[in-house]
Amino acid sequence: MFVHGAIKPPKPYKVPTIEEKGAPRYCRYHQFVGHPIIACQTLRKILHAKIHDGTLELPFKRQAIDEDPMLK
Ligand SMILES: [Zn+2]
Repeated sequence: MFVHGAIKPPKPYKVPTIEEKGAPRYCRYHQFVGHPIIACQTLRKILHAKIHDGTLELPFKRQAIDEDPMLK
């Protein structure tokens, strides 16, 4: 998603160092060490909003249960 520019990260307070980028708690969205990107609430909200209004195409196929909760 970052590669294609679909989501623009905010400007970082400072340029992250290589060590910071390699840290397990480095957030690629906020570009600082504080939380891993999977725990980033801001990015999660943006993704949910984009999925909701259909402006984000998911790179993976939706699971059948999402399409039809009443499995046959
Ligand atoms: Zn974050």
